[in-house]
Amino acid sequence: MRLILLGPPGAGKGTQAQRLVAKHGIVQLSTGNMLRASVAAGTGVGVRAKAIMDRGELVSDDVMIEIIADRLDKPDAAKGFILDGFPRTVAQAEALSALLARRGLKLDAVIEIAVDDNILTDRIVGRAKETGGARADDTVETLTKRLSVYHVQTAPVAEYYRQKGMLKSVDGMGTMEQVGAAVENLLSAATEA
Ligand code: AMP
Repeated sequence: MRLILLGPPGAGKGTQAQRLVAKHGIVQLSTGNMLRASVAAGTGVGVRAKAIMDRGELVSDDVMIEIIADRLDKPDAAKGFILDGFPRTVAQAEALSALLARRGLKLDAVIEIAVDDNILTDRIVGRAKETGGARADDTVETLTKRLSVYHVQTAPVAEYYRQKGMLKSVDGMGTMEQVGAAVENLLSAATEA
């Protein structure tokens, strides 16, 4: 199974991706986690990405597309994957379509987890407290920036897939279990179709 989870920061993409990993034995490809690993390792990409991430802005499309192209070719992605945090721009979505087409692969589903902005702010503030500020970008200031970046640059990605007839949306404002059940329902419908 190959799918994309779309949704604003704090929508629960990571949590839902982990549930799907456990249930379906496919890998979670989180570009945010990959970038944080590069920052921790002090690689060239990591050093350049850190300042951008701390500001709540987006790392360049070229860098992100190269990262994901390499990652898709790792053996563990052969059984299927969940993209979490990618694509974040229409240019990334177009590049992904080309990357998949070249490999003869198709997406099974693109699932948008929809959550209102005011709820996201509360969640991120909560996450910042829980993790003791482990993520430098989990602050109210950066969240505000990340939300506006989301609306301007990433919301058009949902439109891109909607126009292709691929977009499914779940209400992300229920409990983790309710959202998980809604995602599973969509997936069984998508894989039966
Ligand atoms: P995330 O963990 O998905 O919220 O990502 C954390 C940060 O990493 C984002 O705010 C961006 O700065 C950067 N990032 C992650 N994925 C992407 C992407 N696909 N394109 C550009 N920047 C990204």
